Amino acid sequence: MEKIKCYLVRDLLPLYIDKACSEQTSADIEEHLESCADCRKLYEEMNSNILTAFHAPEFDSKKTFRHARNSILGIILALAVIISCVVINSSGSWMGGRAGLVNFIVTVFYIVFWSIFTIKSRRYEPLIKFSFIISLLSFLSSFIGLIMTSLHIGGFISAILISILSGSPFYGLYFFTALGGWNDLYAIATIITLAWVILAWHYWAELKQMQTEL
Ligand SMILES: [Zn+2]
Repeated sequence: MEKIKCYLVRDLLPLYIDKACSEQTSADIEEHLESCADCRKLYEEMNSNILTAFHAPEFDSKKTFRHARNSILGIILALAVIISCVVINSSGSWMGGRAGLVNFIVTVFYIVFWSIFTIKSRRYEPLIKFSFIISLLSFLSSFIGLIMTSLHIGGFISAILISILSGSPFYGLYFFTALGGWNDLYAIATIITLAWVILAWHYWAELKQMQTEL
């Protein structure tokens, strides 16, 4: 019944774990592991040892804890700055006139801290999902804003959505006299938010990849 013996399987396990065996050998080893508890135990030990060695810095619990705590503090700080930026710029953006220097600085802070928030969130699935969804909504509202200002159309509800997610945060860009108005502002916001969508999507995919490897 047995195709290969235990001592052969044990010799081949390192090659099997490295995926260096032929398909036929791998299939035979798998068949053996299913029926032989001793070899299966050895395989699991070897496999987890290799994974632990490979991810050793990740599993240093004290370091991981400190790293996680710093990340969480960074994320909370970044979110606080982001919300403050939107609130500070919202009154000016609703008036519709040209932005001041303070609004411009606030917009720079918003761009920097949203980027920090996304980078710090890349190890936490709910946060990176949140970053992706908000980035996508910001991109859509910037893009809709761009179309609406280009075609000179507007609506109250869409104006509110665009204002919260894109108009207020990026209002400071209107500080520059070279910018013709909201149209150019939305065009720049569309490009920046698209970059955030791609960045968040990339981190999310990277996180999923890491989860399947572990
Ligand atoms: Zn065996």
